Amino acid sequence: MAARRDTMDLVWSISELSSLFGRSTNIDGFLQDVVDRIAEHLDSDVCSVYLLDESAELLVLRASRGLDPDAVGRVHLRIGEGITGTAVKELRPIREARASRNPNYKHIPNTREEEFQSFLAVPIRHGLNRIGALVVQHRRPDQFGRHDTRALQTIAGQLAATLENVEILMELHTRLDRPEVPTVRRSESIRCHIASEGVAVGRVFHLRPHDLLAEEPSVVHEDQEAAFRKALERTDAQIEAIHRDLDERISDLANLIFSSHLLMLRDEEFSGEMIRLIADGSTASEAVRDVVGRYADLLAASANPRTREKTHDIRDLGQRLLRNLRGGEEEHGDLRGRVVIAHEMYPSDLVRLAAQHAEGLILTGGGNTAHLTILARSLEIPAVLLRSRREDELPEDELVAVDAYDGVIHRNPHQTLLDQFQATAEARSVERPTIAPSSARTADGVEVELLANVNILHDVDLAARAGATGIGLYRSEFPFLVRNDFPSEAEQYRIYRRIVERAVQGPLVLRTLDVGGDKLFGDPANRESNPFLGLRGIRFSLAHPESFDDQLRAMLRAGADRDLRILFPMVASLDEFFQARERVRAVSADLADEGLDHHPDPKLGVMVELPSTVECCEEFAREADFLSIGSNDLVMYLLAVDRSNEQVERLYDPYHPAVLRALSRVIRAADRHGTPVSMCGEAGGTPVMIRFLLGCGLRCISADPARLPGIRSEIGRITVSRARTFSDDLLRQSSVRDVAGAISRFRL
Ligand code: PEP
Ligand code: MG
Repeated sequence: MAARRDTMDLVWSISELSSLFGRSTNIDGFLQDVVDRIAEHLDSDVCSVYLLDESAELLVLRASRGLDPDAVGRVHLRIGEGITGTAVKELRPIREARASRNPNYKHIPNTREEEFQSFLAVPIRHGLNRIGALVVQHRRPDQFGRHDTRALQTIAGQLAATLENVEILMELHTRLDRPEVPTVRRSESIRCHIASEGVAVGRVFHLRPHDLLAEEPSVVHEDQEAAFRKALERTDAQIEAIHRDLDERISDLANLIFSSHLLMLRDEEFSGEMIRLIADGSTASEAVRDVVGRYADLLAASANPRTREKTHDIRDLGQRLLRNLRGGEEEHGDLRGRVVIAHEMYPSDLVRLAAQHAEGLILTGGGNTAHLTILARSLEIPAVLLRSRREDELPEDELVAVDAYDGVIHRNPHQTLLDQFQATAEARSVERPTIAPSSARTADGVEVELLANVNILHDVDLAARAGATGIGLYRSEFPFLVRNDFPSEAEQYRIYRRIVERAVQGPLVLRTLDVGGDKLFGDPANRESNPFLGLRGIRFSLAHPESFDDQLRAMLRAGADRDLRILFPMVASLDEFFQARERVRAVSADLADEGLDHHPDPKLGVMVELPSTVECCEEFAREADFLSIGSNDLVMYLLAVDRSNEQVERLYDPYHPAVLRALSRVIRAADRHGTPVSMCGEAGGTPVMIRFLLGCGLRCISADPARLPGIRSEIGRITVSRARTFSDDLLRQSSVRDVAGAISRFRL
């Protein structure tokens, strides 16, 4: 029960706030006085004030009584993050008897916050303008009541009006009194979107800041042929070294790139032509520019789009040769200590960066980056997206600390922040204990199968360590995207076979090629105007039957001795499923005729990621051997929201009633037909969605290996009957807001 206090004396007059301000020497001092006063009046153990840093769109803890003083200035919350962020986002007070029970609760490490149970946050606002939040906390539960809420709201209102003027006045004070000491320290952080979690510190490196191929040749006096041969050797040795040192985790993809570079370099025609030009009087760099330019022009003029794409490789190689000719200053392609900024990049660039040990990545291109995001996560490269092009703000060599957990880029960070980053990186790098493959169990002992989503070989090992009992989704498109080409059946076989050999025994779901949409492929000149509604997923495969057959042959052969299941993406109609099934049967018959070892009859499944598939889910459940719900796409297509479009990304909501009803419908249809169904979209890894899905009857989740331990423990916290109550309640709601209310009312 909330303690009753006479809260009238809390409602200060504006003059009292102003007098506090008058005694302070800067904003932070003023805010400290304010929180001290509130804590005393409300008898709270903690009072904190967060202010919105608009440039970074972050709530920054600016003063606190009760939390660790070191946390001030260092704790950042996004709008919508944690209870405080939610209060600011929704512009409403939130009062909790026990904070940790609120679904939005976020523990902030190193603040001693866990000691406090009662929680009351009110937004500081001016009309609809968000300014910040006031938060009070108490060790004992249920300490704050409605009166406290009203009092804090009143103070927040006064504070809002005062703060509007304080900053201006403070600046005036500063200029008049101590011009050299800025009391209001402007934030040096840039808000960004998280693509791949992690932290990275390093000096900015702009990818391809200048084009050596376009530079004027410098005058040189040494023996040109000797210089060229030295550079050639050095280039060869560098690529060999990258190739040799390739981390096992990315070897499957990186091999595809670097072996083609080596092949080109060792091609007698290519280097021989350069030596001939040097013999005829060209300088070494002129010869490189000349030959690379001619090859690039030839490739670019090819009628074959995939040959045209090789232009990129040849120019890359030319740049490396020229850097080595310049000698000395060029690193061995090593990007340790560097945070790379790129406007646009290919998946192959990303693999190259990983092979060269880049610390992190800032992507400034807007638009379709989902495949890069997925790949960056698998490659464990911390990455963020700066949608509006701002890379010029970050000059070459500037030190940056990229916080890809919170979505902030800190420019020229202080040592304390760097120490904090170091601690975070170390804490996160501690390897989780290996868990033996096993299903998860709800609190009342019901088994839930946990499978892993796998993009590259490395994920297979992570999946095994996280206790996955199989692979629920192997996204086969990465070898294709990295090469921007169809790998041959033999190449695909080698890649799939390595996955199969390292995977735990159990279901092995290989998904056929899912390109199109945000996973762009092929000749940029022929890109569709609306790739999300174009030749995507299974449509692409059915339109390219020979390459589809190559892929199916490689899959059937690689999974000959395993519980192989083949999954088709973006299936919109039963007809497509039947056509795809036909191809599998035909390919299997061919392999039998050829006497090749293969899986004769894998289970065939359908990704449920389109509204049409949901509408026909009864039929799909009857015909397919299994279903896999791809919420990443399903939410987008159901709500017509492109997640990469900043203007509408807030509308991308897996808890929209339409999405919840679709999920429930599919799970129940599968249940009626006894067809296994799993969830492999990202939403399936969040606590609230896990409860909902369990309540609907789902008993299999496939997720990124890193998320499996959290999902396992979340499942262990709930009984099936509570989950059912929860999902029934959510399914009764009509609006997004009603759903949010039902979620926040729910107690485990
Ligand atoms: C999905 O759409 O939820 C899914 C798992 O597929 P992808 O993310 O590869 O599109
Ligand atoms: Mg999908």
